[in-house]
Amino acid sequence: MKKILVLEDENAIRSFVVINLRRSGYEPIEASTGEEALKLLEENDDICVALLDVMLPDTDGFEVCRHIRASGSRMGIIMLTALSQEMDKVTGLMTGADDYVTKPFSPAELIARVDALYRRVRGVMDGDEDDIVSGPFVLSPRNRTLDKNGERVRLTQTEYSIIKLFMENPGRALSREEILENVWGPEYKGDLKIVDVNIRRLRMKVEDTATMPEYITTIWGYGYKWGS
Ligand code: CA
Repeated sequence: MKKILVLEDENAIRSFVVINLRRSGYEPIEASTGEEALKLLEENDDICVALLDVMLPDTDGFEVCRHIRASGSRMGIIMLTALSQEMDKVTGLMTGADDYVTKPFSPAELIARVDALYRRVRGVMDGDEDDIVSGPFVLSPRNRTLDKNGERVRLTQTEYSIIKLFMENPGRALSREEILENVWGPEYKGDLKIVDVNIRRLRMKVEDTATMPEYITTIWGYGYKWGS
């Protein structure tokens, strides 16, 4: 079952989302408060994508997102935001969300985003690919994990996909468009900034000093490269 958590306090919007998810073959689990959402997540450990509204009666969606990530979960998270300011999107992504959809959204737009993320989270079965070793890093496609100096680096599915792309192409300059297409899929219509935000977050996790990156280096006006 393709279980998806829908956290939204406005009944009309929640029903609209739920109906459209059902039509597309998902099994929505509904919550209208942050507390309820966290309880449902505990009871359903097979939820692989969560849609989190930002403005909630008891807390905000960013807090719920932070909570989910703090528990070590790598489920896909899409923020539903009514706020169109760039900062709010960035805040959402920095707390560990994979994507965001701005209200009002069309069913087609929402489902496209959910489908893309769902595919990414379920992952094309990586099969028996060998570990990739690079400097202090070991990436295991079998377990979808990254270790640095023997310590586990906690990554979201999106971050994992980006780092895998880098480690498979060491020393090669990758354009932001190329990263977006590879990680988010060719049908993704969001903007390129999402790549930069994820890279910024990834650097905080993998670099010794995030402000002086030595592993994920910037190619000005183009994109990024693994290694210098
Ligand atoms: Ca709301």
